[in-house]
Amino acid sequence: MKITISAIKADVGSIGGHTRPSEEVLEKVADFVRSNMKKSGIIDTYISYTGDDIHILMSHRNGVNSSKIHKLAWDAFNAGAEIARKQGLYGAGQDLLKDSFSGNVKGMGPGVAEMEFEERPNEAFALITMDKTEPGAFNFPIYRLFCEPSANTGLIVNPKLAKGVTLVVMDVMKNKKGEFKIPEDNFLIATMLMYPGRYVIDSIRNETDPILSATTDRLHNVAGTYVGKDDPAAILRLQKDFPATEEACSVFKLAHYVAGDTRGSHHMPLMPVKKMAKASTNYCIPIVSCVLFSMHEGIFTANTDAFDTPDWDYYRMRAVKKADYMREQGFVHPATLIPEELEYSKGYKAMMNEATKRFR
Ligand SMILES: [Mg+2]
Repeated sequence: MKITISAIKADVGSIGGHTRPSEEVLEKVADFVRSNMKKSGIIDTYISYTGDDIHILMSHRNGVNSSKIHKLAWDAFNAGAEIARKQGLYGAGQDLLKDSFSGNVKGMGPGVAEMEFEERPNEAFALITMDKTEPGAFNFPIYRLFCEPSANTGLIVNPKLAKGVTLVVMDVMKNKKGEFKIPEDNFLIATMLMYPGRYVIDSIRNETDPILSATTDRLHNVAGTYVGKDDPAAILRLQKDFPATEEACSVFKLAHYVAGDTRGSHHMPLMPVKKMAKASTNYCIPIVSCVLFSMHEGIFTANTDAFDTPDWDYYRMRAVKKADYMREQGFVHPATLIPEELEYSKGYKAMMNEATKRFR
């Protein structure tokens, strides 16, 4: 019987700014999920955070888009938000955009990544979570992992990977999805992924199996106006017919520049961090964390942090250097985003209106 893994994430408030949730909020979310998991059909759960976002990972047999599973996550986040409000945490309940649950958590604020598959005898997967950035932050590393042999030799030497995969790309402005095959559509895929604010990788599969599922919700389109950072997460299956763990993790060492960070209005490098890292107060350098799991019969038997060995300290420092170089650019684009992408676009427009009055 097939297993489904669902990762549902939301920011329901954090300490002293957009740093991390409090222990009390985390505990409440975890307690809520654990005390209701049996009646919702959840086999196992893992609850964590990256920056100000809480992630609830669940295994079950209800399939994707299960209202039972989505409702449990929704209710757990609401319980956490209640504590956040009582503690006066910043942005308490900020990702919970609706008052009542309506069957599916998509479009209500939280991000969802999930996939259903026949469990392998030694199922390995990663939960990759980011903060202070946008779904398109996955574009470049995931492109390199599945489409770029110079970044991943597995594309040459693993016959299954060499056959290529299907990438589902989402146009986040039009809320439409298109399917593209690697290797034949390589340049088409690259063309779309060039602008990560518009086109984002939604999911990846081979002929028989799902391999990757990412959150592609974009809060500022969900709510009509930008209400928060749409920090993404993804589930990525590893080993055998899929990328090797080390191939998948190493694509994050480049710390490429992504949109997000302070006021969601800048470009900064994506820094790999250890699990359960708070957001950096150094101008909110965007962060990515990766936890590796083994699963057997739906039980998350063990997990380990992918980015906590000493070599990753070097890549963290490299990201900090890249961040410093970009900040030397001050307010001048590309340090700042284009007007349409600014989270604080209203403030910018008001200033520009004032400025344009002086033109004759
Ligand atoms: Mg966040």
